[in-house]
Amino acid sequence: MAYDPNNIFAKILRGELPCVKLAENAHTLAFMDVMPQATGHALIMCREPAETLLDVSPEGAAECIRMTQRIAKAIKLALDVPGLRVMQFTGSAAGQTVPHLHFHVIPIRPGESLRKHSAQMTPAAELEPIAARIRAALAQTDKT
Ligand code: AMP
Repeated sequence: MAYDPNNIFAKILRGELPCVKLAENAHTLAFMDVMPQATGHALIMCREPAETLLDVSPEGAAECIRMTQRIAKAIKLALDVPGLRVMQFTGSAAGQTVPHLHFHVIPIRPGESLRKHSAQMTPAAELEPIAARIRAALAQTDKT
């Protein structure tokens, strides 16, 4: 199926919709999930107009993983969690709800079950202070 340039993440990339930003570069944008499955749930998307992992260039895939690792390190430090779940859904049959390639980084805390996928909105005002902690941690983890 052809890439839909009007999907919600394409609009975020073009600046037509807001997001709570964590980091960006020429290839990727990292931002907070508005329906977090756990506090600190982040998303990393490519700038390439690719619907799934199967559609992106090898270079784009590599850049996504590079940024995913960078964000994962910062989340672990900022939120002091023992583990992270990194997820990528390829195709609606696999649970993908937004047709633009992205990776999830979800902090895992012992004894805490994840909230439902794509279910409950958290206001940007609540996401922003968490994002600020992750951005501050990037300054340290980027040196490692
Ligand atoms: P997936 O099902 O893998 O396509 O995941 C899409 C993710 O995007 C879900 O976890 C949603 O909560 C999240 N999401 C949907 N709309 C937005 C948005 N406008 N800003 C940030 N995250 C979003």
